[in-house]
Amino acid sequence: MGDRILVTGGSGMVGSALREISPNAIFVSSQDCDLRDCEEVDSLFDRIKPDRVIHLAARVGGVKANHTMMGEFFFDNVMMNTNVLHSSYVHKVEKVLSLMSTCVYPIAECVSYPLTEDQLYSGRAHPSNFAYAYTKRMLDVQSRAYRLQYGCNFITAIPNNLYGPHDNFDLENGHVVPAIIRKVYDARVSNKKEIYLWGDGSPMREFTHSRDAARSILFLMKNYDGEDPINIGNTEEISIKKLASLVCEKLEYEGDIIWDASQPKGQMRKPSSNKNLLDLGWDERSYLAIEKGVESTCKWFQEHYPDVRGCR
Ligand code: NAP
Repeated sequence: MGDRILVTGGSGMVGSALREISPNAIFVSSQDCDLRDCEEVDSLFDRIKPDRVIHLAARVGGVKANHTMMGEFFFDNVMMNTNVLHSSYVHKVEKVLSLMSTCVYPIAECVSYPLTEDQLYSGRAHPSNFAYAYTKRMLDVQSRAYRLQYGCNFITAIPNNLYGPHDNFDLENGHVVPAIIRKVYDARVSNKKEIYLWGDGSPMREFTHSRDAARSILFLMKNYDGEDPINIGNTEEISIKKLASLVCEKLEYEGDIIWDASQPKGQMRKPSSNKNLLDLGWDERSYLAIEKGVESTCKWFQEHYPDVRGCR
């Protein structure tokens, strides 16, 4: 297989983690090409002539962004995914890996836990992020369709909640880990006695460090050619409350946390199974534990603040 690897979403959190371990790949952002535009995408592929593509680019956000920017998320993601996969077919790319998300899985009433890949279409996606979720399901549909009709080796991977350096620390639109880090840090430097966090802290979530997401993507590029998506996340679950206290500990904040139950809290649980990844030979012990991952992300944030996405 050729070694020209094109990475879309190269300026994002996962793209930055991938760059650290695979610096010779070609990383592109929206500055290089608007992936929503099929002509731009076609000329990007013409110029770069990739042998393999890792498709990470997406409009991504937390509970609130998924709710308030549904239309934008739908349009941007459908267009980007459709164009990247179609150009990969037209330009005879040998292999494509696209990233989905555990948001693709159906609501709790329709599945049994832990979430396995074969339950992807067992019911409708959760209303809190259905637009994003269906665009991600379409990555699976398009990859399968192109595999069946054209023989394309297009694979998909499903990470759970990701966090790490270069995340989006915007308070409105970011995910839960960066939003809590930002709030706690702001409270500490301005000597606030209390902070308000969304929801009630009870939902349980799995978190995977972006470094591990990048490592598992490269692992699948090497070891997997199948049509079914593969869950790639660290399956250790912790509550949002525990996550918040971990961030407070790492940032040495001693004020109170007040839970604002009027704000959305999302699904109660979304535990996933990574058995299929382990069966391929992935070593579960290599995942960074949440304590260490949160510690290093807090350290990164403090060292780079305010030159951090969402804070500039
Ligand atoms: P991110 O940090 O928000 O990065 C998004 C990337 O997409 C950026 O490089 C951005 O480029 C690019 N992009 C956005 N719109 C574009 C456009 N119109 N044309 C070209 N590029 C565009 O995202 P991430 O957190 O690394 O996520 C990577 C992948 O993992 C996504 O597919 C996401 O759905 C999936 N995922 C993420 C999470 C999570 O918790 N973060 C969880 C599950 C799955 P600019 O920097 O130029 O805007």
